[in-house]
Amino acid sequence: MFVYADHAATTEMSPVAIEKMTDALKTVWGNPSSLHTVGQEAKVVLEKAREEIAAVLGAEPREITFTSGGSESDNQAILSAVALGAAKGKKHIVSTKFEHHAVLHTLQKLEKQGYEVTYLDVHQNGIVAAEDVAAAIRPDTALVTVMFANNEIGTIQPVREIGAVCRQAGVLFHTDAVQAVGHLPINVRDDNIDLLSLSAHKFHGPKGIGVLYARRGVRLSSLIEGGAQERGKRAGTENIPAIVGMAAALTEAAENMEANTAKVTAMREKLIRGLRGIPYAHLNGDRTRRVPGTVNFCFEGIEGESLLLLLDAKGISASSGSACTSGSLDPSHVLLALGLPHEVAHGSLRLSIDETNTDAEVDYMIRSVEEVVSYLRRMSPVWEDLENGKRKHFFAEYESEEK
Ligand SMILES: *Cc1c(COP(=O)(O)O)cnc(C)c1O
Repeated sequence: MFVYADHAATTEMSPVAIEKMTDALKTVWGNPSSLHTVGQEAKVVLEKAREEIAAVLGAEPREITFTSGGSESDNQAILSAVALGAAKGKKHIVSTKFEHHAVLHTLQKLEKQGYEVTYLDVHQNGIVAAEDVAAAIRPDTALVTVMFANNEIGTIQPVREIGAVCRQAGVLFHTDAVQAVGHLPINVRDDNIDLLSLSAHKFHGPKGIGVLYARRGVRLSSLIEGGAQERGKRAGTENIPAIVGMAAALTEAAENMEANTAKVTAMREKLIRGLRGIPYAHLNGDRTRRVPGTVNFCFEGIEGESLLLLLDAKGISASSGSACTSGSLDPSHVLLALGLPHEVAHGSLRLSIDETNTDAEVDYMIRSVEEVVSYLRRMSPVWEDLENGKRKHFFAEYESEEK
């Protein structure tokens, strides 16, 4: 059996999006900046896609800037907010310990340039408290950046409450919503969001295309200089076929969201129940406040890398966390932020499913993970120490359902 369970890393394109995109590749090749008919026809298609995306987010078309994806949007959002703050002498930023590296590395770069960043704790459940954000805001705070849903453990943050706290304090609020858009209902107005990043390939759209939403009145600084495309905020001829594919994928995801959520949540619950049947297994992050499809477990006494390779041999594509950290020997910064010790954080597994998965695949994953975990434990010196009491177990043998 082949099971793709790494939808938090990327998704397969939807057939509808492929069709619209290939159609645009063939027919909409004009440069939308050209004044002639071919160019203006492309401009119409571009603006129609912008309207379509704005409508799904509850935004105005002029608040939508096309970028190359989530990473670029995160960079531009943060650097723009910081530039606006610096003009007023504000050099402090509030964020969390478990952001995506596109956010964290940008913040680290700013720290080297003299900015100060407060990295909030995300507690054991993987959720930052809005009160903690409120307490961290200072008179010189230029920006709060907190992700909508975490890419490794799937926990959803109280974005609307955090946004309200920021509004009250007069601080700009950015959210990396790459794991949330297309999967959770989002309305930038109701959710008090000033800046939002999204990426098409996380909701069955093409790779290399994304959006930075900036509320009207929030001035973006450009990362790429050149022509006056995107209202002068992002130079370079627009990738219209990819933009068309993204708009189609987003509209489709929004239309099917309710049905998909019901189906995927039911499969996820079955997956959680099944994996909790493995001794000394632990579900990372809040039990229920999570995106429909992402689960992340730690299994004591094993290495996540070996687990992944053996699962791959059984036809299962999974991850130990974010695609960006796999291959490195450091344990995930997200799991460490939850307070897990290094040796436990090493034994992690992320399974991210969506509506294209099936119940039979969930059964197969549960069976396969059980087999592989017990196989690896038979060969693990750490597990032997745990069994004969030389080392203490970190988790209870079985987690209670209520938790
Ligand atoms: C995938 C991801 C990104 C990066 O998006 P790209 O389009 O691949 O650059 C940023 N943030 C989160 C939370 C992600 O999951």
